Amino acid sequence: MTVTLALDQRDTGGLRRGACPSIATPMQTGDGLLVRLRPAAPALTADDLLALAGLARTHGNGLIEITARGNLQLRGLTEASVPHLAAGLAAAGIVLQTGVAIEVPPFAGVDPSEITDAAPLAKALRQAISKTAFTLAPKLAVVVDGGGMFCLADMIADLRLDAVPAERGVAWRLSVGGDRQSARPVALLPKDGVLDGAMTVIAALAAIGPAARGRDLDVALLAKVLGAAPMQVASSHPSTHPLGVHRIGSETVLGLAPAYGQMQADRLAALVAGLSACGAAEFRLAPHRTLLVRGLSDETLAAARACADRNGFWNTENAPGRTISICAGAAGCASASFDTRIAADALVAEAGVLLDGSIDMHVSGCPKGCAHPIPAAVTLCGTAAGVGLILDGRASDAPSAIIAADDLKPAIHRLGSILRARRAEGETARNLLDRTPPAALLSAYQGQS
Ligand code: SF4
Repeated sequence: MTVTLALDQRDTGGLRRGACPSIATPMQTGDGLLVRLRPAAPALTADDLLALAGLARTHGNGLIEITARGNLQLRGLTEASVPHLAAGLAAAGIVLQTGVAIEVPPFAGVDPSEITDAAPLAKALRQAISKTAFTLAPKLAVVVDGGGMFCLADMIADLRLDAVPAERGVAWRLSVGGDRQSARPVALLPKDGVLDGAMTVIAALAAIGPAARGRDLDVALLAKVLGAAPMQVASSHPSTHPLGVHRIGSETVLGLAPAYGQMQADRLAALVAGLSACGAAEFRLAPHRTLLVRGLSDETLAAARACADRNGFWNTENAPGRTISICAGAAGCASASFDTRIAADALVAEAGVLLDGSIDMHVSGCPKGCAHPIPAAVTLCGTAAGVGLILDGRASDAPSAIIAADDLKPAIHRLGSILRARRAEGETARNLLDRTPPAALLSAYQGQS
């Protein structure tokens, strides 16, 4: 079914970005070409990860990232090395997903607490889209969420399908343009109508144009086309942050994250070798820049965590720094004007008051903002004039204050001091920032207080 829907006239300018950097369309960054890899298999073996580490070292600069949506990024490639990377992946048997990004929970089909396995619907939707000639936005994102411990409630998507228990099994809540709470609800669809309903939305996006996103859809018209009244009630089962130790049914699962989402290939290889010796059997990429490890036992868990510590992987749910997004920075990108890793470590050491998980922080080497394209409560961004401070904005926004990169550590210390002094007992970072006058923060940052 093809429908033409009017554009919703809201300001969307800053969210429109370029193509997704796949292996077919690598993205130029300050440290060479970057490719984002979405393995088709839900789980990777130790051999897969060792092969990826070797390929990153041989064909890139060895820096590997796990993105916020649980994809892999290899950096520092060249036009000449990308074809070799593709050949190496094929030789290792690592098949990549192409086309529209359709995400399912990392334990779909495995987690006994899920409402339903989202993978079959995701596969059917992927196949249905591939049979069309639609030109869709390169960064179009679809979430098919069957629930469970690591459900994707907080993942933003253009089109969401959330399973909800129904009288006769499962129904799917279709919504557009947001996470589970913020997406605009369209309809509750029965199991046998959800694929057609989702394809109606995909067709509507294609009809609007090749850059259309979920925010551009006319929800009332879509609901009418689907023959259902918009649903106002969001299903609200929260997701569990993947970091730390979890019980899924009878098995022990360890969630790891390379510090700030970044790892050197050698560290990844050492981690995989160490975890394999502890019994690790498979690894699942997961949201929040994490890797879920299966096959460990209660007896080997402590050794596995020690191995993670040795190799620079966070492994506790309250790891400091997990709410800070950083890009490669001066250590790996020629566009960066300062070392983002050192700045993030300074935030952890000096401004822990901001790291309670209630806000996102972003440290960006330049205004491109690769690591966190959406707004963050606090952003430190490299500019030609120094390191800018941006409150509740994107790296591409104009900074409210700029200091020399050499002054950043003391500036972070001053920010931490003023916030610690103002914080009421038990107060969240979000509340603290909301009631602190921006002028006080800017003065502290610039050393004027
Ligand atoms: S945001 Fe960071 S990684 Fe991206 S181009 Fe700028 S400095 Fe490089």
